[in-house]
Amino acid sequence: MDAVTGPERRSGQGGDELRNFEVRNPATGEVVGRYPDMGRDQVDRVVAAARQMAGVWAQAPFRQRKKILRRAAAVIAADADRYAAIVAAENGKTPFDALMTDIFPTAELLKYYSEKLDRFLAPEKVSPGIMFYNRKAWYQFEPRGVVGVISPWNYPLSLAAGPVISAVAAGNSVVLKPSSQTVASGMIIREVLTKGGLPEEVVQVVTGGGSTAGRFLAEHEGLDMLFFTGSTAVGRELAVSAARRLIPVVMELGGKDMAIVTKNADLDRAARAVVWGAFVNSGQTCIGIETALVERPVYDEFAAKVKALAEGLRLGRGPGEVGSMTMADQLAKVEDQVRDATDKGAKVLVGGRRDETRAGLYFPPTVITEVTSEMKLMKDETFGPVLRLIPYDRTDEAVKIANGTGYGLSGAVFSRDSEEARSIVRRLNTGSVSINDTLLGFAVESLPFGGRGESGVGRYHGKEGLRAFCHLKSVTEYQGRAGREPWWYPLSSEGEEMVRRTMSAFFSRNPFTRMVNLFRVARGMRRFAKNRVGN
Ligand code: NAP
Repeated sequence: MDAVTGPERRSGQGGDELRNFEVRNPATGEVVGRYPDMGRDQVDRVVAAARQMAGVWAQAPFRQRKKILRRAAAVIAADADRYAAIVAAENGKTPFDALMTDIFPTAELLKYYSEKLDRFLAPEKVSPGIMFYNRKAWYQFEPRGVVGVISPWNYPLSLAAGPVISAVAAGNSVVLKPSSQTVASGMIIREVLTKGGLPEEVVQVVTGGGSTAGRFLAEHEGLDMLFFTGSTAVGRELAVSAARRLIPVVMELGGKDMAIVTKNADLDRAARAVVWGAFVNSGQTCIGIETALVERPVYDEFAAKVKALAEGLRLGRGPGEVGSMTMADQLAKVEDQVRDATDKGAKVLVGGRRDETRAGLYFPPTVITEVTSEMKLMKDETFGPVLRLIPYDRTDEAVKIANGTGYGLSGAVFSRDSEEARSIVRRLNTGSVSINDTLLGFAVESLPFGGRGESGVGRYHGKEGLRAFCHLKSVTEYQGRAGREPWWYPLSSEGEEMVRRTMSAFFSRNPFTRMVNLFRVARGMRRFAKNRVGN
């Protein structure tokens, strides 16, 4: 089916003449949108507009920001099915998948920050320490300015909305570059925020290909922060470029997540969770389960349950079905990895071949066993509907396999023995883990989300995630009346003595020494406070 090619990636252009690129529905091939393929000049203009707005929006009181987010949550919920249809048409997933994994999390994050942002961004008081006892000390949060957000096509609304909502809630303006496959889905977040009352100029959108408009944005001198979600290869390049400009980055990159199913697991729950975690969104989920490591005594039973569930899944666009893949080159990669694995001796338990009877990019849920570390399936991220099952004998072995991919995004552990599950969790080198569940590391908005190693740096969601979009400014305020401090110039012998006695008063192991010095320090402080210490 040659109609489904995804957007054309054009080479860079500098002039004013804008060409349009088309977006096609990967499940049907029909054209669902046309957008300007922006060049460097257009991106410059968009960033300049965001810069102009940054100073204005930074002054917006928390009350106003909260109201806008609250209203935006209501806007998206009220029109949820229309928005889900937009996402489904560009991505190929089913409308229900879009509702559950794009619309719902966006509404939830809007509501979450609408309730919490003033608390999360309120100045945080700290103790100023012994020597500076008569000061107040705190750190406060200030917007970074203009945040560039580059988002992918797999969860085209929720992965654009997360950083955009956080940046706006923290008082920044934003330039969003959604994937050129899913422009309308990415733009939903601007629409709902604007309908909620956000000045239109606060969120600007750049459209175009990744290697053109995306790169012009990511490397733009006018950005104060870059938030990128996508492949490790591109993320690494953009992080290097951001390092040259010394701007902070959050990099949400690839993953190769595993589930560990111990012999103490509830096998029915584990099998259902693994099947959903592997095949939702046609497996195009950064935290999707690519491999289930199953303790040998329960391996056969677990494999039979997974097989039955996977065979029961239907391809299509209706309820209870698995949608199409999104990108033709991604489908080709999946086919190549499966072919490579079977050539090297792997066994296909379910699926294994593209569904040629359908017009769209449909690859059925596929379960593969007898895989080895030499296969591409085990070396590279697949990002498609392929689940590997591997038996293990010792926990050490399972942990070693799970930690051996270089990635460190998320994972899952299944066991009814909570101690066992938590001890495995402590040993996994990942940014998040779900126990007896799947994909919750991202879905729970109050938990910071992000990866380690090849999966990226930085976090969003939760308190820490909101603060990531802010500069921290540390402030002290003197509360006394003295005209000078013991350690200021010109030094006096009395001042030097005070510093030494303070050390003894607080750190000596001898209680008598501590007491005597405390008394003398207090007396000395009073003299300083009354400005009785001369030069
Ligand atoms: P990608 O090629 O890196 O693209 C991601 C985004 O970056 C798209 O908007 C893309 O635009 C743009 N882009 C591409 N090349 C660029 C460049 N040189 N400079 C600036 N922007 C550029 O990733 P993908 O293959 O589409 O997405 C799948 C990958 O994303 C997988 O590895 C997956 O694991 C990862 N991912 C990670 C997370 C996470 O939270 N950790 C979430 C989702 C996906 P165009 O699409 O228009 O080319």
